[in-house]
Amino acid sequence: MGPIFMALLLLAGWGAFAYSASRRWKLLRVGTADNRFDQPGRRIRETFRYGIAQLRMRRYPLAGAAHMVIFLGFGVLLLRSLILWGRGFDESFSFWLFAPEQFLGKAYSFLKDLFAILVIFGALVFVYFRVVRRLGRLTLNAEGLIILGIILAMMVADILYDAATIARASSGPGFILYEPAGSIAAVPLGLLSDATLVFLRHLGFWTHSALVLIFLNLLPYSKHFHIITGVPNVYFQSLQPPGRLPPIEDIEGKLEREETLGIRRIDQFSWKAILDFYTCTECGRCSDHCPATKTGKKLSPKHFTLDLRDFLYRNADALTAGDGNGSVAGGADGREHHKDLVDGVIDPEVLWACTTCRACEEECPVFISYVDKIVDMRRYLVQERSEFPPQLQSAFRGMESNANPWSFSPADRANWADGMGIRTIAENPDAPVLFWVGCMPSFDERAKKITQATARLMQQAGVDFAILGTDEQCTGDPARRAGNEFLYQMFAKANVEVLNGVGADKKTIVTSCPHCFNTLLNEYGDFGGHYRVVHHSTFLSQLIADGKLRPTNPLSKKVVFHDSCYLGRYNDVYDAPRETLAGIPGLTVLEPRQTRDRGMCCGAGGAQMFKEEEPGTQRVNIERTQQLLETNPEVVASACPFCMRMLTDGLAAKGREDIPQLDIAEVLLEAVQVPQSHAGA
Ligand code: SF4
Ligand code: SF4
Repeated sequence: MGPIFMALLLLAGWGAFAYSASRRWKLLRVGTADNRFDQPGRRIRETFRYGIAQLRMRRYPLAGAAHMVIFLGFGVLLLRSLILWGRGFDESFSFWLFAPEQFLGKAYSFLKDLFAILVIFGALVFVYFRVVRRLGRLTLNAEGLIILGIILAMMVADILYDAATIARASSGPGFILYEPAGSIAAVPLGLLSDATLVFLRHLGFWTHSALVLIFLNLLPYSKHFHIITGVPNVYFQSLQPPGRLPPIEDIEGKLEREETLGIRRIDQFSWKAILDFYTCTECGRCSDHCPATKTGKKLSPKHFTLDLRDFLYRNADALTAGDGNGSVAGGADGREHHKDLVDGVIDPEVLWACTTCRACEEECPVFISYVDKIVDMRRYLVQERSEFPPQLQSAFRGMESNANPWSFSPADRANWADGMGIRTIAENPDAPVLFWVGCMPSFDERAKKITQATARLMQQAGVDFAILGTDEQCTGDPARRAGNEFLYQMFAKANVEVLNGVGADKKTIVTSCPHCFNTLLNEYGDFGGHYRVVHHSTFLSQLIADGKLRPTNPLSKKVVFHDSCYLGRYNDVYDAPRETLAGIPGLTVLEPRQTRDRGMCCGAGGAQMFKEEEPGTQRVNIERTQQLLETNPEVVASACPFCMRMLTDGLAAKGREDIPQLDIAEVLLEAVQVPQSHAGA
């Protein structure tokens, strides 16, 4: 079938692809180092689950099924393309065991026909989503439609080649069991002349052979690059707990050497971040679930990724030219590819709108991360340019001077415990349980009730626990999520010293604040603090399971539960708060439509609690409250003091102060008989 033409086609197609791929490879190497080569066994398992079996795609069932058949179809049809390229040199070419007369050859032909049809179905589903349904999460552009057109044309051309071959057979266009698609298409072709059939056979053959190469060459320049980079991106995903932000190492040394703290320039992102940019499929699942996007903020995680990717591509030549690859030297030098990303690439408002809720990361089918990138860029803004929303200033100042973001007097930290008979760790050094209270539950009048309820329940269950009292300080979480890594590290080091000093590494730390829980559990390890930390929901549900707490007072209430992001998506604690509530006789737990790993953020995380939401946008807490109200609850329950504040405000804004907003500990306390000795405490 034209060996010279086929040789030229293959040479040109693969040569051009090798050139493009080498450019992308060079650009990837511009990124800074990041060790993603550990734990190969776990990485392979994750790759099978999410890269090959595409488990996350199930979250969008029809799109997931369509994507799956296209993905598998490409795998199956790869062999077919190789065979057709071979037939360009020898018309009877086949791989030995896959020769048409062999059993494997027939089985493969059947499978290939089946997948050609399924791929056509899959591609048509995506055309439907784009052109008919015009889904807002998808980008409607010519590129996507051209690629879908090429996929459809490749499949049709392949069937045409088979159909014309069958129709020309001396025995006529009979039905060949192992070539069903070709056989059916051959029926109408049987009416055509032999010369026409020869033409159609050539047309199908060359169209398929050439389109595969054209498709291959479009990949590095389109969102369909994920066909090549998707599986590696899943393999190289972070295996760290999602709640651990990578620390800025050697922060003081960096300051002395005038190196950039945080990310200012595109080449300060790691190679893995660049692989993320290559891999974005533009599916929009991230933005579909982002509370900031939902409430009209400038932040859309999809566009955050795409804006960085487009800037990277626009400056690829300069970045790979070798003038500063991987360098972190500061100072604007006027060159486009060295410019500050927040000057013209990413609007600071985009960065400050993120609640760090991880809804985007939970959805992304190819495991692209956002929170680390956003916080890294905040770090640069805060620590290098001292630019941040003005309200954060008072939180930073409060932490610096009073060890809590609200500037309450540190001497009042343990006032909530007055008269409750609770001992400090200095008074009860052997207590096996350390109750880490947290700033808001220590000082805020409403949140103190959560703290007191938790403490009463522990007393009721006979738990021997102690508190740090005035030795406790802010964990530093709000500072860290707001980009003030320096301040965070100050608290991390000080708290680890205190905790290790009281032997907390040999105790169980219980806390009612998911932000403290996450920081103590996942982040203090980097500073020498390795602790067994339990959220109060888990601790209380265990006390019920052990029979140490008996919720015997019936509460005939319908209670809707709101998941905290730092408990659920960050630390996979979904069941414990529900089990705590479900243990109460008569109580019905309601679930909002957006629940568990798809639960919407309350709007407080990522230091949002300490700043105003972006002007002219809806409030995240009101949107979330509305979702909860749709279940017609009699009580709104939560397991986080931050969520409590946001939802209480949300209920007030909705004019529904008649619905109580309670922590699970408060609900449980109502159901547990409290002995008189504690009841009046
Ligand atoms: S972490 Fe939450 S708020 Fe931030 S981009 Fe992702 S979904 Fe949006
Ligand atoms: S970042 Fe992930 S979820 Fe968002 S558009 Fe890209 S591939 Fe889709």
